[in-house]
Amino acid sequence: MNTTKLRTEAFESFINCFNLCCPDWEIDGDSSQPLKEEHVKFTHCKASSRFWARLKWWPDGRIKFAIDSSWYEDATPGERLGLLIHEIAHARVSNHPPEFWEQAVENYKTLKHNHAREVERVMMGTVDWDDTREFLVTDPLPVSVDHRSEVACERRLAIAKALDYPLERFEPFANMRIKTRDVGGWNYTEVPLWNIIYEQKSLGDLIGCFHEKPRTHVEKRSNTFFIELPVVKRRGDAYEVVEGDERIALAAHLGERTIPCEVTEKDSAGNPRFGEELSGSAD
Ligand SMILES: [Zn+2]
Repeated sequence: MNTTKLRTEAFESFINCFNLCCPDWEIDGDSSQPLKEEHVKFTHCKASSRFWARLKWWPDGRIKFAIDSSWYEDATPGERLGLLIHEIAHARVSNHPPEFWEQAVENYKTLKHNHAREVERVMMGTVDWDDTREFLVTDPLPVSVDHRSEVACERRLAIAKALDYPLERFEPFANMRIKTRDVGGWNYTEVPLWNIIYEQKSLGDLIGCFHEKPRTHVEKRSNTFFIELPVVKRRGDAYEVVEGDERIALAAHLGERTIPCEVTEKDSAGNPRFGEELSGSAD
């Protein structure tokens, strides 16, 4: 599709969806008229990380909407709609506090449950609502949540629940930039996860790793989380956790095959280990 046609479609889709989500929007203090093309400055922007569009508005209700046309071109109609829903939520809430994400969920529900036919028409293609839902569930990233109140995986879970997203498909930590090793020069041993005896943890426990205040075991530097090394001790041919079950369970959840661990000779009570672990030795 040529760029001009694509941009015209994006522009029209935006204005139509905007009017369905914000029927009470005021231009010059008047909400009796819908938003029209002449009220919107539509431009192109270059995507950075995961910001593929931008929305700003002036006190008189006029709007500036910018979109990365190459992202838009590659996206499915459902994903395009997800992006529009995100940007239209910014007309009500600036930045990305919890209220912003609630507004995005509200926009999705309004469009799907009250205006599905119109949306199909204005998006100029069959909208797969599952694509849109998937877009919204995976949309929160460390760069786009308010870290004073929540972390990205937690917001994803809240959106997944609000939109009845199948939890077996849910990947709360995808794209979260979680590193299982500190760069601080620890002495560590890379231990295969299958060889560690650890306690299984619930999703809530795993999310809790990011929520400790102060964060003692998960450190955030710029937009990457660093997991502090779990502590394990040898038990026969395997390793047993002394401290850090959650971080090991988190690494398993992330699909890691090994995890760097601090290997101690002491047990969880701080006593040197003796006896049974060595009983298999020939010496
Ligand atoms: Zn945003």
